[in-house]
Amino acid sequence: MSSLVVVGSLAYDAVETPHGKVDRMLGGACTYISLSASYFTKVSIVGVVGDDFASEDVDLLQSHHVDVEGMERVPGKTFFWSGRYTPDMNDRETLVTDLNVFATFEPKLPASYRGIPYLFLGNIQPTLQRNVRAQMSNPRLTGGDTMNYWISDHRADLLETIRGWNFLLVNDHEARQLSGKTNLKQAAEAIMAMGPAVVIIKRGEYGALLFVRHNGSLRWFAAPGYLLDQVFDPTGAGDCFAGGFMGYLASRNLDLSHADTDPQEMLRAVIYGSVMGSFCCEKFGVDRFRTLTRAEVDARFQEFQDATAF
Ligand code: AMP
Repeated sequence: MSSLVVVGSLAYDAVETPHGKVDRMLGGACTYISLSASYFTKVSIVGVVGDDFASEDVDLLQSHHVDVEGMERVPGKTFFWSGRYTPDMNDRETLVTDLNVFATFEPKLPASYRGIPYLFLGNIQPTLQRNVRAQMSNPRLTGGDTMNYWISDHRADLLETIRGWNFLLVNDHEARQLSGKTNLKQAAEAIMAMGPAVVIIKRGEYGALLFVRHNGSLRWFAAPGYLLDQVFDPTGAGDCFAGGFMGYLASRNLDLSHADTDPQEMLRAVIYGSVMGSFCCEKFGVDRFRTLTRAEVDARFQEFQDATAF
């Protein structure tokens, strides 16, 4: 089993959805990505927390065999984020972003991480994403995501960073903003011209689009969103998608730079991403991952297959 390095925020979140309100719970992109990917591969995280980060939260990560050697603990408060969802839960408003110890984060990779073959760069400053990549010896596959702020205010830096990536994961708004194209196929092609050979565009409850070049032509695949009985809290769904997608690629030892990589594997990775994103929404915060089993993950993968075959 190959292993994966994940960098990103470790946080406490306050979240309000039509189903309830939680004032403080474990969150952060790195947390969601690593919990999700842990169902497929061994995960090692890089991030920073303050002295208020609870030992039960470290225990949750470790109960999923996540290596926390690269989790730095410094004096001060852990990154705090608060958001409120619209009634249909397709949009949210950020109420508070307190960077706290995240403001001066300088990722340092433990020596034991440097030779790990898979690297996922979660949404942090593009310069830091580049810095983490530079500390790795020679990852087989590098991918990551970003957000509107880096696209608008740190564009040149972001472009230099993603040039060396194998894939980029963005939502539809970010794809349009980054490419300057409203048509999503044109947007994906424009992003591919920036470097990544694979582009995944997340569309919230409507699923995700995969664009990959195979044998010289552009192949696309549309995964639907899983129809949940009830969405409790969509926080972290995009990150869990990333964890499922990347975790599956790592578990299969895939190398996207090889022209002979079976594109079907990419499709399966997108479905595993959708599966993990859907589980995340079933409970508040990371709660679903306290009980979720790999058998449930595989059963939902099969359900996706049955629901989309014709
Ligand atoms: P998602 O719903 O997939 O976008 O992920 C939400 C998670 O991202 C929350 O747990 C937040 O703590 C974290 N988050 C929100 N804003 C930021 C930010 N500016 N930088 C890093 N992480 C963030």
